[in-house]
Amino acid sequence: MERETFFCEILLPLPLPGTFTYKIPCEWNHKLQFGVRVVVPFGRSKLYSGLVIRVHQTPPRQLVVKYIVDIIDEYPVISEQQFQLWEWMSQYYLCHLGEVMAAALPSALKLAGETKVMLNPAFDGDITSLTEKEVKVAEILSYRTAMLIAEVAKAIDIQKIIPIIKSLVEKEIVLADEEIKDPYKPKTESWLTLNRLYADDEQALYTLIDQLNNNKRTEKQADTLLQFLMIAKKACSDNKEAASYKVKKSDLMKAGKISDSRIKRLVDKQILVPEQQIISRLAAYTSEHNASEITLSSPQQKAMDQIEKQLEAKNCVLLHGVTGSGKTEIYIKLINKALEDGKQVLYLLPEIALTTQIVNRLRYYFGDKAGVYHSRFNEYERVEIWNRVLNPDLFDRHANKYQLILGARSALLLPYHNLGLIIVDEEHDSSYKQTDPAPRYHARDCAVMLAQIHQAKIVMGTATPSLETYYNVERGKYGLATLTQRYAACQMPEIWVVNIVESLKQKAMDEYLSQFLIDHIAAALARKEQVILFQNRRGYSLRLFCHSCHEMPTCIHCDVTLTYHKSSNLLKCHYCGYAIAMPRECPVCHSHDIEMKGFGTEKVEQKLSELFPQAVIARMDLDSTRSKTAYQNLIQDFETHKTDILAGTQMVTKGLDFDRVSVVGILNADNLLSYPDFRAFERAYQVMAQVSGRAGRKEVPGKVIIQTYRPEHEVLQYVVAHDFLAMYRHQIREREQLHYPPFRCLIRL
Ligand code: ADP
Ligand code: ZN
Ligand code: ZN
Repeated sequence: MERETFFCEILLPLPLPGTFTYKIPCEWNHKLQFGVRVVVPFGRSKLYSGLVIRVHQTPPRQLVVKYIVDIIDEYPVISEQQFQLWEWMSQYYLCHLGEVMAAALPSALKLAGETKVMLNPAFDGDITSLTEKEVKVAEILSYRTAMLIAEVAKAIDIQKIIPIIKSLVEKEIVLADEEIKDPYKPKTESWLTLNRLYADDEQALYTLIDQLNNNKRTEKQADTLLQFLMIAKKACSDNKEAASYKVKKSDLMKAGKISDSRIKRLVDKQILVPEQQIISRLAAYTSEHNASEITLSSPQQKAMDQIEKQLEAKNCVLLHGVTGSGKTEIYIKLINKALEDGKQVLYLLPEIALTTQIVNRLRYYFGDKAGVYHSRFNEYERVEIWNRVLNPDLFDRHANKYQLILGARSALLLPYHNLGLIIVDEEHDSSYKQTDPAPRYHARDCAVMLAQIHQAKIVMGTATPSLETYYNVERGKYGLATLTQRYAACQMPEIWVVNIVESLKQKAMDEYLSQFLIDHIAAALARKEQVILFQNRRGYSLRLFCHSCHEMPTCIHCDVTLTYHKSSNLLKCHYCGYAIAMPRECPVCHSHDIEMKGFGTEKVEQKLSELFPQAVIARMDLDSTRSKTAYQNLIQDFETHKTDILAGTQMVTKGLDFDRVSVVGILNADNLLSYPDFRAFERAYQVMAQVSGRAGRKEVPGKVIIQTYRPEHEVLQYVVAHDFLAMYRHQIREREQLHYPPFRCLIRL
C-alpha cells in the first residue's frame, strides 16, 4: 500500500495573509479537491471550516504541520472562476484573500468553533429524520439560548462536530451566527380544511348545510361554507387533483367578501379547521410572458444594434440613455439572448434601487429563472441561491434555476461558472463602492474583471455616466450606444432655476421654499399630480446655533456639527452615530439664546404640511427607512398615489419610475456643489439630472425647479441644458490638470 504524504493549502475566512498548509490523513489522500470545505484546527484550540485551494506534495518549511480534522463537503462550494475573482480582488484592493472569502461566503457556509449556534425557534421537535449525533446536538441546544460550536463539542464530547452542525443547519433545525441576530421566521399562510367528519361523509355534510340554512341566525354560515366548498372544488379540478377540502383563507375572504369573524364562527364550531402552512422563502414565479413580446422603438432598436455590433469587438459597451429612454427593455432583450444561449446572467443594481419595481419587471419576462440576491436576505435564502448558482443541476427537481441573478454589489461574489452577460445598471452610482470593511471594492470595476474571467460581455447603463466610464469610451476601450429621446415621444422635463438671493430680496421665500416652487406644487396638487422634493440632508434642522458665543455642538469623536432629529429629540452625529439629548442652553456659554439653523428633510416635511394641509406627505431618508419594509412601503404608497408629495434625500433620485410626477424641486443645489470631494461637481450633476429624470415620465410633462444661491454656476447650466457632454469635457480637463482619477489612482492610507 502506498504511503504518500499529501498536503493541502487551506483558505480560512480570516484577515491573515495567504493560505495555510495542512497534512491530509492518508485515508483521505484522493478525496480532497479544490473548493470543498474541511475542518482544521487553528491557533491554540480553535476549529474553522476552510476551503481547499490546492493539494500538493511539497512539505512546508515549518516543523509542525497539523492534520485536517474532517471533510465537510463532497462537492466544491465555490467555482474556479469565482476564486479567480477573489484573487484579483485581494491583489487589487490590497486585502487578504481570507477577507474576500469572509465577505463572499454566507455565514452558514463558514461554520467554525467560534460560530454561535442555536436551535431554530421554528423547529417543531420532530427528530425522526436525525442521526443519533444530530439528536444529541439538538438536545443540548434545547437547554440553552445560544452556544459556540466549540462549547457544543465539549459538552457532548464529540470531536467532529462541524459536519453535524452543517447537516442540522441544512435541515433548518439549527441557526448559525448571523441569523441569531435576526432569527429566521418561516413565512406561513393560513389555510382552512373541512373537518374530516364532513369531508369523508357527504351525507353528514349536506345535513349540516341544511341545518345551518334553516336557522336565521346561522344562514350566513351556510353561505360561507358553500363558498368554501365551491373554491375547494374548483381548485381541485383546475389542478386535476383528487378532491380535497382545502382552501387558502385569504382566497375565501376575497372571493366571498367574507370577514374574518364569520370564518371564525365555523372554526369555533370545528366545521373548518385552521392550518398554518409554511411557504417556500423563494416563492416560485411562473411567467407566460416572453421577451419577444417587447417591440423596441426605432431608437431603441438602433441602440440595441449598436450594442451588439460593438460587443463583437469589445467586451464592454456603455448604454448612455436619458432617463426614461427605455434602457430596461434593451437589457431584457440582451438578457433573453444570453439565457437562450444557455449562459448565466448577472444584473447589478445599486442596493437601494433593488425594489420590487425592477424585480417585478424582470420576473414578468423571466419568471422563476430570475433570482434576487442582496444583503437584506436571511441566511437560508442566501445559501439556497448560492447553491443554485453553483450547481443548477443538483436542483433539477425544482423549477427555479436562477440563470439570471439580480443583485446589489455582493452578488458579484456568487459561484458563477458560466456567465455570458453582466449588466451594470445605474453604472455611475456611488453605492457600488464598498467602503468598509475589506474588501473595499468597486462593484463596477470588479464586474469588468469578472466578465473577463468568464469571457462574458458587459453592458453598463446610465443617464449620467461616471467620468471614469465615459473616459474609457473616449479612449476606445468601451463601446458606446446612445438613446437621446425618452420612450414614446415623452418630453424631457423643463428646468427652472430660482435665485434664492433674489427671492429673499423680493420677500418671495417662505422659509426654504420659494414662492415659485410653492405655486407649482399647488398647481400640480390641484391637477392631482405628484411632487418630489429633494433635500440632501436628513434630520429636522441642520444644527443648533448659539447667538452669544457662536458655538455649535460638535461630535466628540468626529468634530462635525451635530444634527437635530425631531422625532427622537436628539442631536446626532451623521458620521459615527454619537448622540446627545437636545440641550436647553448653549453647552459652551450657557446662554439661552440658541436657535436652529439650516434645515433637513424633517423640517421640509413639516413646512409642507403647514402649506398643504390637505396633501399626503411622506419623507424618505435613512431615518425613515431603517426597517426592512419601510422603503418598499414608501415607494409603493407613492406609486399607488396614496402619497402626493415625497420629500427626501438622495434616495428619491434612484432609478424609480413613477407615472404621475409633474414637479420635482431641488431645494438647495449649493449643498451638493460644496461637498468636500473631488467628485463633487460630477456627483452634483448626476444627482440633479437623476432627480429631474423622475419628472414627467408618461403623459404628464414634467417641471424641475432648482433653488440656489449661485444660479450662474456652470454645473447648473449643464443640468438646465441636459448637456452631459459639456459637463464631461469641463470636468475631465480639470481632473487631468489636477492629477485626479481616471488619470491617476488615489489610495487612502
Ligand atoms: P430608463 O431605464 O431608460 O430610465 P425605462 O426602461 O424605465 O427607462 O423606460 C421608461 C418607460 O417606458 C417604462 O415605463 C417602460 O415600460 C416604457 N417602455 C420603454 N420601452 C418600451 C417598449 N419598447 N415597449 C413598451 N414600453 C416601453
Ligand atoms: Zn453659547
Ligand atoms: Zn461622530
